[in-house]
Amino acid sequence: MEISRRKFLGVGAAAAASLTLDRTARADVLSGSAPGASQLAARPVGGASANGIRGVARAYDMITRQNADTLDAIIAGVNIQELDPDDQSVGLGGLPNEEGVVQLDASCMHGPTRRAGAVGALEDIATPSLVAKAVMDYTDHIMLVGAGAKKFALEMGFKEQNLLTEKSRRDWLRWKACLNPADAWLDTRSDSAGPPPTASIPFDDPLHVKFTTGTINMNAVNAGGDLSSVTTTSGLSWKLPGRVGDSPIIGAGQYCDNTVGAAGSTGRGEANIKTCGAFLIVEFMRQGMSPDEACMKTIDRVIAMTERRLLDNRGRPLFDLQFYALAKDGRFGSAAAYQGARFSVADSQGARLIPMPFRFSRADRPQMPEVRCRRA
Ligand code: ASP
Repeated sequence: MEISRRKFLGVGAAAAASLTLDRTARADVLSGSAPGASQLAARPVGGASANGIRGVARAYDMITRQNADTLDAIIAGVNIQELDPDDQSVGLGGLPNEEGVVQLDASCMHGPTRRAGAVGALEDIATPSLVAKAVMDYTDHIMLVGAGAKKFALEMGFKEQNLLTEKSRRDWLRWKACLNPADAWLDTRSDSAGPPPTASIPFDDPLHVKFTTGTINMNAVNAGGDLSSVTTTSGLSWKLPGRVGDSPIIGAGQYCDNTVGAAGSTGRGEANIKTCGAFLIVEFMRQGMSPDEACMKTIDRVIAMTERRLLDNRGRPLFDLQFYALAKDGRFGSAAAYQGARFSVADSQGARLIPMPFRFSRADRPQMPEVRCRRA
């Protein structure tokens, strides 16, 4: 088996963990001049990860035109991507686990009533965000997982369906074919008689398949200052069956305190869980930090808490991580480990994507773990 990830992570094991700060990024963040630096918008405001741009527009519309509850609005927002078979990061069409099974995670919080709900490793239901809300609305529990979560969803009337689309099934088979030169799976990508190549996985070149991630976090505050948050995902592609990331963990994948603000994350869940990132961002905002400052300080805390095998020899993380935050007064902000991520915002100026402040420049981004294919 030739997995360059191992070789690559070995370099990190010998590395010093000192942080190399991107000076430009820091100066921009501190001066508030960076694109995306915490901005005050007239409430209501919706904020989300980049893939939530259509959803945050819908949420804003529901809050302003229909006077919808903030949680109902953002869940309707993320439902757009959950039900889109072409979005391979959430819900229907999400990339599966190592056995080809799509397992979904989601959680939500409703600020005004201080309630929360979550589901982990949910199979065959396309809208885990709504199941998480049903756990919140109809049970005395916070989180249901696996078979119990599915049983509950069916009892609540959710429709069972196969979530593995043809495109995601083909990507999974290609990943399998690239795993181990000694097994019986052929990588047919370069064979003219083989199945058509898929463009859905970011290939560096035809011989590499990256591990992929993808999630939507969305937060909203209405004109009266009531807040909600939701995060939904199919998690890390090719994960071990039963793996649960940060998205369904209240305080990690999302968090909302109606007196302060809301926050959430996308990226490597294993890194964020140990820092309870979303909770920490809200606590930093409570102490007076702007949403941008709170997000960047939490990126730094995650890196400081990262094991050496996941850092390169300059202390840079071998993974991506993004945080998004919304303060009760309508200020929004974000931060990413690496340059290039964008943040969706919807307010009275419309829905738009804003470049996120970052800790390390794109040029400094180390090569990320990948699986090397055996056939040239
Ligand atoms: N945070 C998600 C998880 O770890 C993945 C992602 O955001 O891409 O499951």
